[in-house]
Amino acid sequence: MTELLDFCVLGAGSGGVRAARRAASYGARTALIEEVALGGTCVNRGCIPKKLYVYAGSHRGGFSEARLFGWRGFPDASFSLSHLLSQKEDELERLRGLYAKNCASAGVSVFSGKASLKGRKGDYFAISIDGAQSQAQELRAKNVLIATGCEPLPLTEAVAADFVGGELAHSSDRVFELDRLPERVVVLGGGYIALECAGIFNALGAQTTLLHRNDSLLRSFDRGIVRHCLEGVAARGVDCRFSTRLLGLSLQPFRGGSDKTGNEIRDEICLEIEGGESILCDFVLAAIGRRARTRGLGLEALGVALDKRGKIITGADFATSVAGIYALGDVTDSPELTPIAIRQAEVLARRLFTDSDELFDARVLPRAVFASPAIASVGLSEEEARRQGKVRIYESRFVPLRASFAARAGFSDQVMLKLIERGGGEVGSGEVLGCHMVGSDAPEIIQALAPALRAGARKKDFDDVIALHPTNAEEFMTMRDFYE
Ligand code: NDP
Repeated sequence: MTELLDFCVLGAGSGGVRAARRAASYGARTALIEEVALGGTCVNRGCIPKKLYVYAGSHRGGFSEARLFGWRGFPDASFSLSHLLSQKEDELERLRGLYAKNCASAGVSVFSGKASLKGRKGDYFAISIDGAQSQAQELRAKNVLIATGCEPLPLTEAVAADFVGGELAHSSDRVFELDRLPERVVVLGGGYIALECAGIFNALGAQTTLLHRNDSLLRSFDRGIVRHCLEGVAARGVDCRFSTRLLGLSLQPFRGGSDKTGNEIRDEICLEIEGGESILCDFVLAAIGRRARTRGLGLEALGVALDKRGKIITGADFATSVAGIYALGDVTDSPELTPIAIRQAEVLARRLFTDSDELFDARVLPRAVFASPAIASVGLSEEEARRQGKVRIYESRFVPLRASFAARAGFSDQVMLKLIERGGGEVGSGEVLGCHMVGSDAPEIIQALAPALRAGARKKDFDDVIALHPTNAEEFMTMRDFYE
């Protein structure tokens, strides 16, 4: 007999799992269907492996720095990507296990397979599941949530028809599957993933080049902060090239020889750039954006409307153009961030299965790019704030204590902080509109400042707080010089 459900969630990423668990906790008969792996992009191919690889890279130079602090006995450092890969796999397995356990204890029925909507039968939508190892089965649900997320946009689909060799570029998914570090890497793109992966490859020891079609990176971040971040990226050895136009990729014949670790080099990729230059490398990463995973879900036949980027159009209540079908997270036009999908999921579950009429509120959104150095932001950039009216901008650049000490061993790291106060009125009386930072602990610090901005803190409130010394964050409390 076909099971009748209150709620069926397609996609077990951060948003889907949270929506399913919450709905079940409110008593809804809930099923969750996932084609690839519990945890979705964040756990399996995104945030978590990325952060583990960032940690791995952060140890580079750590042995020499530790010697400076008096430690002895470190052997010459070497790096094994295959070891990191297997440790990462163990950790992801543990996390997937936790997801499965949490779903089971919440009473969510989890199905593995490709889900597609087969139309409406009375009050219920029919959903079929094509499992790789099981026979197709069908569920019926009154409400359906599409939380299938995004996937990397392949280079082949982003270039003109006469572009050759697009298939030689890999996506970020492949980065976390490599068992051997490529000697030379070229990263295409200028967004979050390009910058984070360039930092990882460079820190792990690959010769890294970043090629971007535009004249700067991270378009949605404060320009001054991005410039400072890029100085740090370049100082660490990434060759950043802007306003470049890639003409094509080709595979070069076997050139012989071996890389630093003695592995024979077989394939070389040649990137041809407008202006006559070409770059040879062993691995090309295309980090040029992501596209919504909507294909094969049966959305077209039901009339679920998509925007011109292929994202599902929703209202403030997550309803799509078809009554009873909802969507949230990366598959919609909202910022492609895990905490956004999670919060949306909680709001939707409450709206559907309690008497809540709460709306999702993403005011004062903290964001971080785990590049090297990291960059983090909350509130408005200088450019956005100036469009709203007068501002006072406070900036500070300094070499923190640890970095100045470590500079004796050849490491140097300049932190940058920026605070934006609403202008007009007495100095210090204006609301803090934005805080931005570049530096290794920037994401931690900026996250902790977010409630102050949400509560409408004024610059004077920052000034009145006693600084915590010696820290990097104390500078946010002690900045006095500004420009308008
Ligand atoms: P982004 O949207 O951040 O950046 C895409 C980049 O690719 C842009 O620099 C864009 O250039 C460039 N680009 C787009 N199309 C082309 C093309 N046809 N040829 C060459 N370059 C192109 O996408 P990402 O893939 O880096 O990340 C996707 C999203 O995932 C992010 O926006 C973010 O929301 C999320 N994410 C968040 C992370 C975090 O929170 N730390 C980490 C990773 C991802 P241009 O600027 O010229 O448009």
